[in-house]
Amino acid sequence: KTFEELGIDSKILKAISEIGFENPMPVQEQVIPLLLAENTDIVALAQTGTGKTAAFGLPVIQKIDVSDNYPQALILSPTRELCLQIASDLNDYSKYISGLKILPVYGGSSIESQIRTLKKGVQIIVATPGRLIDLMNRKMVKLDRISTVIMDEADEMLNMGFTESINEILAAIPEERNMLLFSATMPAEIAKIAKNYMSNPKEVVI
Ligand code: AMP
Repeated sequence: KTFEELGIDSKILKAISEIGFENPMPVQEQVIPLLLAENTDIVALAQTGTGKTAAFGLPVIQKIDVSDNYPQALILSPTRELCLQIASDLNDYSKYISGLKILPVYGGSSIESQIRTLKKGVQIIVATPGRLIDLMNRKMVKLDRISTVIMDEADEMLNMGFTESINEILAAIPEERNMLLFSATMPAEIAKIAKNYMSNPKEVVI
């Protein structure tokens, strides 16, 4: 199938074709239609390098209402480097969508500047759990209109001790969200998160 047949809009098609994406990778073929459909939770077993950033990034971008300045999608990632990479990739994919604002929030950088940007309004937040909790405690980030949550490298986040933070974050997001969890391994803690926070998740194995 082509990206167009998977349901991707023309503005995004133009951007990814310029990046050099010709055909969807297997994880993209499986995840894109599921994420574009409403009310699907997904647990995907996928390693890095399989194309998972575009698998969640393209449908996330496409579902954003750019006329609404509220955070609508949250992407959690274990490290600052991955946060920045995801935000940069999403900016590339959304090059032709005007008014779409993506903010990476991560520790070890000025929280004040992240707060200033949040106050101006963003629709997609790419965050490490620790910094997001900090912003939540300061009441500087609104998660009440998040409709899509992506957990990237979920096993890494748990290994880094973010289990409690993740539970706190997920508890603050409305229940009518779609959630997609990516993990390279499937330890019991991941199954527990899936059980607690997802409804009948579809399993995707790459
Ligand atoms: P990721 O697993 O998201 O880190 O992606 C691995 C690499 O594959 C990145 O360099 C992407 O730019 C590239 N990539 C993702 N999707 C495609 C595609 N459909 N065609 C060609 N390259 C791709």
